[in-house]
Amino acid sequence: MTNISIPVAEPMLKGRELEYISDCITSGWVSSKGKYVNRFERNFAEFCGVKRGIATFNGTIALHLALAALNIGPGDEVIVPTLTFVATANAVAYTGATPVFVDSEAETWNIDPKAIEDAITPRSKAIIPVHLYGHPADMDPLLEIAKAHNLIVIEDAAEAHGARYKGRPVGSLGDAAIFSFMGNKIITTGEGGLIVSNNKELTERAFFLQNHARYAGNPYWHTEIGFNYRMTNLQAALGVAQLEQIDDFIAIRRKNAAYYMERLKNIPGLTMPPEAEWAENVYWMFAPLIEPEFGVERDAVIEKLRQKGIESRPFFYPIHTMPMYATGQSLPIAESLAARGINLPSGTTLTTKQIDFVCDALKTMQKDSE
Ligand SMILES: *Cc1c(COP(=O)(O)O)cnc(C)c1O
Repeated sequence: MTNISIPVAEPMLKGRELEYISDCITSGWVSSKGKYVNRFERNFAEFCGVKRGIATFNGTIALHLALAALNIGPGDEVIVPTLTFVATANAVAYTGATPVFVDSEAETWNIDPKAIEDAITPRSKAIIPVHLYGHPADMDPLLEIAKAHNLIVIEDAAEAHGARYKGRPVGSLGDAAIFSFMGNKIITTGEGGLIVSNNKELTERAFFLQNHARYAGNPYWHTEIGFNYRMTNLQAALGVAQLEQIDDFIAIRRKNAAYYMERLKNIPGLTMPPEAEWAENVYWMFAPLIEPEFGVERDAVIEKLRQKGIESRPFFYPIHTMPMYATGQSLPIAESLAARGINLPSGTTLTTKQIDFVCDALKTMQKDSE
């Protein structure tokens, strides 16, 4: 077994992370009360251009909490893209509602607004567009459909901190949005999540449910079944330090993606990741498609890279094909993207030399197979 020397992602922790964490330890504020939680919520909401943030222990429960705060539950349907990380659908299932899967559009790989209309039924309550691998979904047509059918829109921006749609930051486009700060995301709190929204009723209800649904003025009287979904001050301390560096992280990712594309552009059979003219992709994953002309199949590419110490991953499997959600649908664009796509090393710590090494490995494997 070859040791991995170039991982797909690794956190960059070279700012004031240690200083802020030390402050938590020396002050004793390690749990979910403490100044960093409020600071992180405020700073992140400001980063998105949104009024309020509610920090949570991870991104999956941020989505569950947002849905719960919107009173989505049994009998309701929530429209999601099939090509996403499984958490998007699981959070819907936790509420007792049913996720309804929609195909991708070929251009951006995100939920196809044109296909959403067909998925709407009288039970539809919400749409969760996902900004996959850092590229924003095409929100305007989606928001128009949502408005026409009175549906709520929650952005799953877990992979797209700082990405822009027509100049506006993701997280500010729908009724609410969620982010993840898990270790391989664009900034990290170890594990962590956050809801942002301008809707005061929603954020207040999310805050209430997140804290065991404590009755105002009496912390041990509960009027509903709430959750403990809070973020700790330790997590938030990391988050505040990471957020101070996010503009640099995004600039590095965009520069690395441009360098990848420059190095790979003359290799036949590789389709580069998209960037629509209205989009600013933050390249959470540098994610090209391996076409038949490349001469080596996607899974063999992953294995050959692994032999050189390079970690890579296949695209997510379309969720409608997984046993717990199997719907028997045919969603051909997502299925085809999932079969061809690869995530190459994409972390903020990635160096030009490492990108050269990955690109050379792709080039030589193609020669070897001729
Ligand atoms: C990472 C991710 C999540 C969940 O985040 P966690 O913090 O790992 O729970 C949700 N949706 C998408 C699209 C993700 O990539």
